[in-house]
Amino acid sequence: MPLGNLRDLYQQTILERYKNPRYRGKTNPVHRQQRGHNPSCGDTIELTLRLSDAGDAIEEVMFEGEGCAISMASADLMAEALRGKSIEDALEMVKRFQCMMKGEAEFPQESRKLNVMQGFAQFPTRIKCANLCWDAIKAALESSDITAEKQEAEEQNAEEQNAEKQNAENQNNLVTTE
Ligand code: ZN
Repeated sequence: MPLGNLRDLYQQTILERYKNPRYRGKTNPVHRQQRGHNPSCGDTIELTLRLSDAGDAIEEVMFEGEGCAISMASADLMAEALRGKSIEDALEMVKRFQCMMKGEAEFPQESRKLNVMQGFAQFPTRIKCANLCWDAIKAALESSDITAEKQEAEEQNAEEQNAEKQNAENQNNLVTTE
């Protein structure tokens, strides 16, 4: 296929996704949530994820937000490609997408729709638009609930320690005033 026609096809796919997104909205329930912002273009995105019962796979990804056609089409294509993928596979796909935007990789047959974004790898400002949703999903997948619980526990510990210290100081005060 001549390069000009191929470029038209890419643009058609992106505009079609932008105008008629298939994965716009919020998952129910929301197991993970992640905002992303690309200041150089003004794109914002809010991803929500529904995970499998075991928490090791993505059942559904949805997105909301405002931005250019590239950022929104990229999110819609990503949401479609990641349905039903294990978290491990999804993180591999994030890596592959980022490599693709450096001109170093592309997707195999089963996810080849994502390759339309390749056309923007030569435009540095557009790379950020295409990568926005992928950076956001990476952050969402890497911020596990376990980490959140651990942080909470650590904060509670710190509070208890502070309270103990306070008690000790109070007792010291009592001793000195007596
Ligand atoms: Zn953009």
